[in-house]
Amino acid sequence: MTHDQAPHGLPGVIEPDGAEVTCDLAILGSGMGGATLAHALRSSGARILVVERGDFLPREHQNWSPEAVFVQGRYRNGDQWQDAQGRPFQPGVHYYVGGNTKVYGATLPRFRETDFGPVAHAEGDAPGWPIGYADLEPHYGRAEDLYRVHGTRGEDPTDPWRSTDYPHPAVEHEGGVAELADRLRGQGLRPFHMPVGIDLREGGDCVRCGTCDGFPCLLGAKSDADVRALRPALAAGEVQLLTRTLVGRLHTDATGRRVTHAVATRDGKELTIRAGRFVLACGAVNTAALLLRSSLANGSGRVGRNYMVHNSTFLVAADPARRNRAVFQKTLGLNDWYLADGGRAALGNVQMLGKLQEPMVRAARPNVPAAVRRFVTRRSLDLYLTSEDLPTRDNRVALDAGGRITVHWRPNNLGAHHELVRRTTASLRAAGYPLVFTRRMGIETNSHQCGTAVMGTDPATSVVDPGGRTHEHDNLWVADASVFCSSAAVNPALTIAANAFRIAGGVLA
Ligand SMILES: Cc1cc2nc3c(=O)[nH]c(=O)nc-3n(C[C@H](O)[C@H](O)[C@H](O)COP(=O)(O)OP(=O)(O)OC[C@H]3O[C@@H](n4cnc5c(N)ncnc54)[C@H](O)[C@@H]3O)c2cc1C
Ligand code: SF4
Repeated sequence: MTHDQAPHGLPGVIEPDGAEVTCDLAILGSGMGGATLAHALRSSGARILVVERGDFLPREHQNWSPEAVFVQGRYRNGDQWQDAQGRPFQPGVHYYVGGNTKVYGATLPRFRETDFGPVAHAEGDAPGWPIGYADLEPHYGRAEDLYRVHGTRGEDPTDPWRSTDYPHPAVEHEGGVAELADRLRGQGLRPFHMPVGIDLREGGDCVRCGTCDGFPCLLGAKSDADVRALRPALAAGEVQLLTRTLVGRLHTDATGRRVTHAVATRDGKELTIRAGRFVLACGAVNTAALLLRSSLANGSGRVGRNYMVHNSTFLVAADPARRNRAVFQKTLGLNDWYLADGGRAALGNVQMLGKLQEPMVRAARPNVPAAVRRFVTRRSLDLYLTSEDLPTRDNRVALDAGGRITVHWRPNNLGAHHELVRRTTASLRAAGYPLVFTRRMGIETNSHQCGTAVMGTDPATSVVDPGGRTHEHDNLWVADASVFCSSAAVNPALTIAANAFRIAGGVLA
């Protein structure tokens, strides 16, 4: 990978000419939280510096190659982490400008109103948030505009109220997904069009290809945080970006209340970043790691605790007699079992995945002959099942003696998840897909990580206040999924973006 991947002519990407840079506000991390915040503050008059450890993800034909992306892992650049037993694993994180959104599936639902809880689950309660849905609602609308979300109001029975409509109409089902929607309706279920952030507007750049979920977009048509939020923020003139800059530690003044500077490494050299205010947006694991490494904001002992990541299962259903001709498959969702009902616990969300192709299953099923893999993937409908997991003190991010990230993770609330898998399997069989394969995701699938610097009003039990500011430091905020009090059971990115919009005013007040 070269060292100059800034798209040609992009303003605001700086090269420091010394060992120190200074700004009013330093945003550390350029993913969903960091880039959205930079966009929200782009015309504030403050000198804003976004600091990102990764580089721009290169635009190249391999962006859309299942072989390059899934077999060779071309864009996987996460460092190695370890589990509680010290076994190393390669986490599913991506260090690029735009963070994980460069490869995300761009499914962008709002959390349900009840998700702000508390929510009683079979194995315990998901805690309530110190803010409610109404606090986020206007900001969800702003995030949907920015990320060009396509959806249909009122179709999903669990949809929360909204003061603005989706900015763009839903993406239609195609091929086997359209058939599945009909068949699920025939069972009395209420499938709906998942809200998606792809540029299918009149004159938009999206060509509705089959390599979206898990792939970078070659055309810049996916609503990732780099293209939609950061680049417009840079173009506005007051925001600058420093790439390839790994922040290692934050330092305070003698009182301990004010963060004075961050020490980073750039191209092997130390760089000091001085700012009046700092915002952490490194993703839930890396934000916690940075706070732990800096011994900051942890009077409650909660930094790194309450790690949540969802209970998730891939489900592949096929009818050997029928091809699935869907190309862009990620359009259908099902929330019929999302809410608790009568004596039944809340189970979770079902949604389509991007269309599986043979190379994508090669790594997971190397012993299955290629012809069989091809036969199944040409016919399969591919789904992703998500249930809420519960925050606990023991599920946590820690650093070992050598500073390596250790993820202590024991999945909980699995009974609900197993029931979700059972019901979905039964429905798909009844819908005419006799072959159903499932695979539960392990510790390395942490795309929905959250909860490690939890938001709350009580400094004894939380890390940041409802405005995202750390209880213990006057000029340090957190703007990523770390602040989530519960994981809900739908995709997190729109809520991260809405929350960044919500706290933006307070960061510069
Ligand atoms: C394959 C995949 C599919 C997904 N699909 C969806 C989906 O369809 N819908 C959805 O809602 N969510 C999806 N997600 C999850 C979504 O991408 C994340 O929830 C979201 O990007 C998290 O935002 P964030 O700001 O917390 O962190 P990130 O977006 O991960 O950004 C963190 C940034 O901080 C940088 N960074 C980390 N440490 C440092 C440091 N020490 N110094 C400087 N920079 C640092 C990283 O390089 C990164 O750019 C998916 C994720 C993956 C991997
Ligand atoms: S479906 Fe559209 S947004 Fe997604 S990768 Fe293809 S062209 Fe890009």
